[in-house]
Amino acid sequence: QHAPVITIDGPGGSGKGTLSRLLAQKLGWQLLDSGAIYRVLALAAMHHQIASDDEEALQPLAAHLDVQFSADELGNTRVTLEGENVSHSIRTQEVADEASKIASLPRVREALLRRQRAFAELPGLVADGRDMGTVVFPQAEVKIFLTAAPAERANRRYLELKEKGLDVNIGDLLNEIQARDARDMNRATAPLKPATDAYILDSTNKSIEQVLEEVLNHVNSNA
Ligand code: C5P
Repeated sequence: QHAPVITIDGPGGSGKGTLSRLLAQKLGWQLLDSGAIYRVLALAAMHHQIASDDEEALQPLAAHLDVQFSADELGNTRVTLEGENVSHSIRTQEVADEASKIASLPRVREALLRRQRAFAELPGLVADGRDMGTVVFPQAEVKIFLTAAPAERANRRYLELKEKGLDVNIGDLLNEIQARDARDMNRATAPLKPATDAYILDSTNKSIEQVLEEVLNHVNSNA
């Protein structure tokens, strides 16, 4: 039997990670954090000292990446690379940046397709990323594209880092966010953009509860 899929795409800081996690919990479905796969690959490349533009070397690394995903008690994704827990080390700005460079390489994306599609299992999948609705799961029954104003996304990221005790400059954050968005939107392969049949939702000035409710209403109206 075919597993239903809900895709949630959008830029970093739009709230799609939290939304996807809550939605998967609420429905009792699997969760795919596809960004984590690109991040793990970036970390593996850094470990093996492979440059982020070395497609020749990155393609086999992507194809054979020894990565495991599991959910912790809060529903957060726990990620292991070659048996080592990398859940925290993949969350740095440096890794995000490397990930977005590597993610522009078509053969790398191709090598990760099957791995991502394997997450579609019963009773269903919530898939979080940039190209979930456009490339990886074009047949998904529900597609959401979540956005938010860049300043709001920088502010959310700032609060998140501050909570972790990190002292960061909000202007720097905004610059980094905009540089990464530009790279993700302007690449030739699987650029960040809404699927033609996506429900577009702007989370600026909305709480995560409001966003979740709006999405659940949309999901139910499609059922
Ligand atoms: O979502 P997250 O910030 O973890 O993603 C890290 C990077 O991985 C993104 O900036 C993007 O370049 C890449 N990515 C992608 N396609 C996806 C998910 C993430 O290209 N489906």
